[in-house]
Amino acid sequence: VDSSAERVLAGLDAEQRAAVTAPVGPVCILAGAGTGKTRAITHRIAYRVLSGEIAARHVLAVTFTARAAAEMRTRLASLGVAGVQARTFHAAALRQVRYFAPRLLDGRAMPELLDSKVRLVTLAAARAGLRTDRAAARDLAGEIEWAKSSLVEPDEYVVAAAKALRETPHEPARVAEVFAAYERIKRGNGVIDFEDMLRAAVWGIEDHPDVGEQIRAQYRHFVVDEYQDVNPLQQRLLDAWLGGRDDLTVVGDASQTIYSFTGATSAYLIDFPRQRRDTLVVRLVRDYRSTPQVVGLANAVIQQARGAEARLRLELVGQRPSGPEPDVRIFTDEPAEAAAVAARCRQLIDGGTPAREIAVLFRTNAQSEAYEKALAEAEVPYVVQGAERFFERTEVRQAMVALRAAVRSTPGDTPLVQAVVDALAAVGWAPGQPPPGGAARERWEALAALVQLAEEYSPSARSERFGAARVGRGRAEMREELASPAVVSEEGIAVSERPVSLADFCEELQRRAAQQHVPTVEGVTLASLHSAKGLEWDAVFLVGLADGTLPTTYAKTAEQIEEERRLLYVGVTRAREWLWLSYASARSPGGRARRPCRFLPQLDRSGGERPAGGAGGGRKSDRRRIQVVSCRVCGATLMAGTDRKLGRCPTCPSDLDEELYERLREWRIRVAGEQKVPAYVVFTDA
Ligand code: ATP
Ligand code: MG
Repeated sequence: VDSSAERVLAGLDAEQRAAVTAPVGPVCILAGAGTGKTRAITHRIAYRVLSGEIAARHVLAVTFTARAAAEMRTRLASLGVAGVQARTFHAAALRQVRYFAPRLLDGRAMPELLDSKVRLVTLAAARAGLRTDRAAARDLAGEIEWAKSSLVEPDEYVVAAAKALRETPHEPARVAEVFAAYERIKRGNGVIDFEDMLRAAVWGIEDHPDVGEQIRAQYRHFVVDEYQDVNPLQQRLLDAWLGGRDDLTVVGDASQTIYSFTGATSAYLIDFPRQRRDTLVVRLVRDYRSTPQVVGLANAVIQQARGAEARLRLELVGQRPSGPEPDVRIFTDEPAEAAAVAARCRQLIDGGTPAREIAVLFRTNAQSEAYEKALAEAEVPYVVQGAERFFERTEVRQAMVALRAAVRSTPGDTPLVQAVVDALAAVGWAPGQPPPGGAARERWEALAALVQLAEEYSPSARSERFGAARVGRGRAEMREELASPAVVSEEGIAVSERPVSLADFCEELQRRAAQQHVPTVEGVTLASLHSAKGLEWDAVFLVGLADGTLPTTYAKTAEQIEEERRLLYVGVTRAREWLWLSYASARSPGGRARRPCRFLPQLDRSGGERPAGGAGGGRKSDRRRIQVVSCRVCGATLMAGTDRKLGRCPTCPSDLDEELYERLREWRIRVAGEQKVPAYVVFTDA
C-alpha cells in the first residue's frame, strides 16, 4: 500500500482502522457522538483513493447539511484527496436532475423549484375551505413534507397517518384534501418542491434505463453520514443509485435521530446489518471530541432513553483530559440570559478563543433574534446559520419574484445588472432614487444592496469587495448570503465562471433559499440545534432550555418528547471544551414563569449567577430563602437571598469569605422546606 495511504491510518484507533481498511462491501458504523464516525468515513474514502483501489470521481458521499458536506470536502482535501463528490441528498439530486433534465423532460425547461411550501399550502387550504394563518400553514406544510418524504400519496394519507400515529394539524381527511389541492396547484403552476426534485431523481433512474446506467457508471462507491436521519424517499434514491450493488458505508447514531417529524427513521440504520448479511459492523465508544465533563452529561441524557433506542444504548467513554464543569445558569428573563451569553462570548474571545470556535444553539430560529441583538451590543461578530430568515424577508421575496419574471421574459444571457435593475423597477425601485424614510427605508436598502450584489457578483470581485467588512446588518447578511456562490462554484455545484447569467443567479438564490448555506464570515455561530448536527465547537452555549421550548410545546406524543431529548443530546455533544446550559424563568422581565427543561435536573438547582471569588465554587440551591449576615469588611447587614450574588457584599463590594459562605450554605440546608421567603436579596445598613 502506498505510503500516503498508510499516513491516512495514523490518528485512528483499532476499530476505526478496521472500518477504514475494510474491503469492498457494506460497512456499518454504529456509534455515539464524537466517536469519530465522520472521521472514519472520510479516512476510508481517502485510504481507498490513495491506495489506488477506487477513483475519487466515482465516490458519492452524502451528508445532511451543506455545511457538513463542505466540512467533509475540507477534511478530504487536507488528506490530499480531491474530486470526491460530497453533497447533501438535495444537492446531489438537483445536480442529477438538472443534468438529465433535457432527457427526462423531453426538452422542456426544468421547472422552477419552490423554496417554501407555505404560500402554496395557504392557497390549497383555502381551496379546501380551511382558513389558515402562517403558523397553521406551516404545520400543514410540515405534514405534507412528512407524507411526501414517506412516499405517501394524497389518497393514501389518511391510512398512513393513522398507521404512523401522526399528530395531525387537522382532521386527517382535511389534511389529505389540502395535500391533494397543493399537488394540483403546484402542477398547474409548473413548479416543483424539494420532494418532487428527489422523486424526479428516483423516477429518472427507475424509468429511464439509459439514465440509470449513466448514473451507475458515475457513482460506484457510496458513503452516507448521519444515516440515522434518512427518510424513505432518500432511501429510495440511495437504492436507485446503488442499483443492487453493495459498496456502501453508512454511519450513524440512533440517539441522534432528530428529523423523524419529516419522516426520517433510524430503522434503516438499525436494520442495515440484517438487510445486508455480509455487513462489517463497527462499534465505536471512545469519545474524542469532548471533555469527560461534557461526555458525562451526554451519557446522562442518553440514559433517559426509552424503547428501541434504550436497548441500543452506547455509553460514551471520554478520551480527552479533564476540563471545566458545564456552566449551568438560570436567568430571570431572556434579555438577561442573552446579555450574559454575549458577555461570556466576549470573555472567551478576549481570552484567545477564536469566534468561529463558539456557537450559540437554540431550539427554534425565532430565538436567534435576542442573541443577535446582545452579541451586536457586546461587539461580538456573529454568523446566523440557515438562510431562512433572510429569504423570508418581504423585500427579498418580492425581488426574487421580480428576478424570476425577468428570467422568463429575457434570454438567460441578458446582461445581469440591467435585468436586475429592470426587475427592481417593477417593484418600485429606481437607480439614483434617494432612500425613503421610515419603514420603507429597510426595504429600499435591501433592494439597493441586491442591485449592488448583482453588480459585484463575480468570484474575482467578491473576495476584495465583500471581505470581512461588516456593514449594516441587513446588507451584511445579504452579502454573506450571496458571497458564497463563488465558493460553491469552486466546488463545482451550481454556478459557472463569469459572466453569470441571470438565470444562474436566480437559481443560485433559490438553492440558497431552500438550503442552509455555508457561512463564510468569521464569527460566533448562531444556529438551530437541528442544523448543528455533525459539527463541533470549542465552546457551545445551549440556551433557552425551558420546558415548552425544549421540549417544544408541539411535542405531544411520547415519541415526539423522545426526539426533543435526542435534540438536547445532539446539542450537548457539539462542545469540545466549554458547555453552557441556560434558561430564563420568564420570557420577558416580569413575564409568566416557566419550568426548566425536564431532561436537565441540573437546571432545577442552579443559580443565575455564581458566587464570586472567595466565596468558593459552590452553587446556590434554593431560590426562596434569606439569611441575615454582616459583611466583615464594611459591617453592613445583609439579608442574603439565595438567587442573587451570594458571594459579594453589595455595599462595599467585597467578596464574602469562605466561612460566611459556609454559614449561608448550612443555613440553607437547615431551612430547606420553608416556603414564604422573598426570592431576592435585600440588604440594610447596620
Ligand atoms: P457526530 O456523531 O457528532 O457526527 P462523529 O462520530 O462523526 O460525531 P467526528 O466528528 O468524526 O465524530 O470526530 C469527533 C472529533 O474527534 C473530531 O474532532 C475528530 O477529529 C476527533 N477524532 C476522531 N477520531 C479520533 C482519533 N482516533 N484520535 C484523535 N481524535 C479523533
Ligand atoms: Mg459526524
